[in-house]
Amino acid sequence: MQDSSCPLCGANASRYTLESLNGYRYSCPNCAGEFEIGRGANTRAERGELHSQIPSQVKAFIAQGKVPRIEFEAGSGSFTVISDVQKA
Ligand SMILES: [Zn+2]
Repeated sequence: MQDSSCPLCGANASRYTLESLNGYRYSCPNCAGEFEIGRGANTRAERGELHSQIPSQVKAFIAQGKVPRIEFEAGSGSFTVISDVQKA
């Protein structure tokens, strides 16, 4: 784990690079859990380009005990949130 600010809320969080290398798994005390974010989405989030409704969507899934994942779809230029990466 490495220290990093949360791409959703800016709080002090920790993250590690996913085995697939396609993004990171964050653990954020302020967001009250863990989530994943793809590399493209993370780059845009760090530039402040994350759409404003994404953090609340992610936090709602975390509150349900899920580990959501944020992806950026280059074709449509939009962000999507996958509800839970823990499902097989
Ligand atoms: Zn956070």
